[in-house]
Amino acid sequence: MTDERRIVELDKRHVWHPYTPMQKYLEHTEPLVVVRAAGSRFYDASGRSYLDANSSWWCAVLGHGHPRLVEALREQAERLCHVPLAGIAHEQAALLGAELAQAAPRGLEHVFYSDDGSTAVETALKLAVQYSAQIGRPKRRRFVALDGAFHGETLGASLLSGIEVFRRGLGGVTLDCLRVPAGPGAHDRAFAMLTELVEGYEAEIAGVVLEPMLQGAAGMRPYDAELLRTARAVTSRHGIPLIFDEVFTGYGRTGPMWASAHAGVEPDILCVAKGFTAGMLPMAATLATHEVFAAFLGDPSRAFLHGHTFCGNPLGARLAREVLAVYRDEQVLERARPKAQAIRRTFEALGAVPGVQGARCLGMVGALDLDASGYLGEGGWRVYEAALRRGAYLRPLGSTVYVAPALNIPDADLEELLAIVGESVREVLSG
Ligand SMILES: *Cc1c(COP(=O)(O)O)cnc(C)c1O
Repeated sequence: MTDERRIVELDKRHVWHPYTPMQKYLEHTEPLVVVRAAGSRFYDASGRSYLDANSSWWCAVLGHGHPRLVEALREQAERLCHVPLAGIAHEQAALLGAELAQAAPRGLEHVFYSDDGSTAVETALKLAVQYSAQIGRPKRRRFVALDGAFHGETLGASLLSGIEVFRRGLGGVTLDCLRVPAGPGAHDRAFAMLTELVEGYEAEIAGVVLEPMLQGAAGMRPYDAELLRTARAVTSRHGIPLIFDEVFTGYGRTGPMWASAHAGVEPDILCVAKGFTAGMLPMAATLATHEVFAAFLGDPSRAFLHGHTFCGNPLGARLAREVLAVYRDEQVLERARPKAQAIRRTFEALGAVPGVQGARCLGMVGALDLDASGYLGEGGWRVYEAALRRGAYLRPLGSTVYVAPALNIPDADLEELLAIVGESVREVLSG
């Protein structure tokens, strides 16, 4: 039996895949078996390559196997792989804390480390609830989130989620969340309602949680910077923490390092993951202002008794530092600008193709819809198949076809990827 057959056989016997109807997978799916990846491509056992259109679930922001990241990991592995962050300080966590605070929006100087986007959000929620209680507002225990929001998969984070199918299995379990209807084209209305909700229920709201500028898993839905300023104004007025989940939008995905910069506003709490370690290791951080941090000082009963085994993991921290250094040394944001324009040109052109709906772009993201069926739509999967035959891995969000490639994708690879997107969309629409 070839290695590839053996891998698929063991996979199907033992591996429970994420977001996957397993019966259909077991009976009908021939998974792509990836043996290595380099730059913006995966390779299968036969040596065939596939362009990674969405940087491996939005995290490989510097492509695969960046030599500086690989070297940093190797070096750190020989020195120190793990120690608990309880009563112990180490160089990588300390330097990263300082470098991250420096790179972050103004005022976010305290860094709480965790493992991934979900735990970064979970940390933010627990911080906000305890913060409220400790500033004398114990009735503030609810959150405001947008319809279509995606904030991760731990229980708290998934209950914030406004994507109904992601919550369906959790009927009856609640996190008290006031949901603002957003959806395509409805952001203006949603933020007007957000303001009304905060004004009306300020005594009960522990935090407002937003993916700034762009709702990712909702189907790459951008919205206006002015709306973020609205949210900042109303939360500031009532002293309610504004939590920005930049797990996807951070690290230049939308253009500037942080999407909040489009609006010139700063959150009280910021969640970062994904691009944080450029897809090399799971590691995340939740940043907070001194005002939030200070509410946890004083009597030990006020402490934030929360943490994870791998908090501040030296390997992850070393990598996260190297990612920031590569961003600076290779001028990743500046050099992504013409690439973002190339994405814009392609998606604007595709917007004129009959059958394509709502073509849209923001920074290094381009998206379009094939129909209005949303996350369970099939249209995107037909484009996925067509793109795979042409050498690109273009996993859709239901009926939404999108690209979110590495920010440093070589121009020639980007051109090839965009050509494949165009040909695959046209093929499916004409078939
Ligand atoms: C992916 C994502 C998360 C969850 O991150 P994980 O690392 O998958 O736990 C949270 N928020 C946003 C906006 C995301 O895109």
